[in-house]
Amino acid sequence: MLLEIENMSLHYGRIQALHGISVEVGEGEIVALIGANGAGKSTTMRAISGLRPVSQGTIKFNGKDITKERADRRVIRGISQSPEGRGVFPGMTVLENLEMGCYTRKDKAGIRSDLDRVFGLFPRLAERRKQIGGTMSGGEQQMVAIGRALMARPRLLLLDEPSMGLAPILIQQIFSIITEINQQGTTILLVEQNAQQALSRAHRAYVLETGRIVKSGTGAELLVDPSVQEAYLGVA
Ligand code: ATP
Repeated sequence: MLLEIENMSLHYGRIQALHGISVEVGEGEIVALIGANGAGKSTTMRAISGLRPVSQGTIKFNGKDITKERADRRVIRGISQSPEGRGVFPGMTVLENLEMGCYTRKDKAGIRSDLDRVFGLFPRLAERRKQIGGTMSGGEQQMVAIGRALMARPRLLLLDEPSMGLAPILIQQIFSIITEINQQGTTILLVEQNAQQALSRAHRAYVLETGRIVKSGTGAELLVDPSVQEAYLGVA
């Protein structure tokens, strides 16, 4: 397993947001984490990227215990996050935003080829490389955020709500790009409220409810699971 989370709990002060969750992501997989508002999806991502300390349990990456490691060390190990709400630097150009994703790297040729990869996945960003980030549309900023995360050349890409706020046509597009990124060899952990798309694209998925994993299976299994359909797919 590339990522192994075992029995992880996390508190915000006295509020317990995660109650002993265990999640695994194998090399080459797309794994989705679905759940309602406040279920703990973003919290799980923050714990993996090292932005919030856990109160119990372990996080292993590539066999190594990283539970107590700093966030910047985890980026160097190959964990990169595209945060919810995008977090594009509004005063920087598209190109500068992308370059922020690889500030820890020195290999010029590698950076060049990763930039070409990002521009290949998102031709719109290539056209707009000099545009100021804050003036890009919501969908375009989402592309910038994913592109920036890819510039760290991650082994594990964490995507928090990539479809949030996007028009239906763009949702389709962003999910096809996610599949393409995965087919190019990047492992992906995806948090989504759009359960339909997430389960269709994911190899495996976990359902999170009030900080606990209540169900897991292949994307295909969960798509036809009656309780998942009722709660997350709008099927009565
Ligand atoms: P959404 O889909 O609405 O983004 P989520 O599943 O990502 O939801 P989290 O953001 O992980 O949910 O929140 C899980 C719980 O932790 C919620 O009850 C939330 O109110 C609480 N929480 C999150 N961040 C903080 C914080 N900084 N301080 C206190 N409580 C927090």
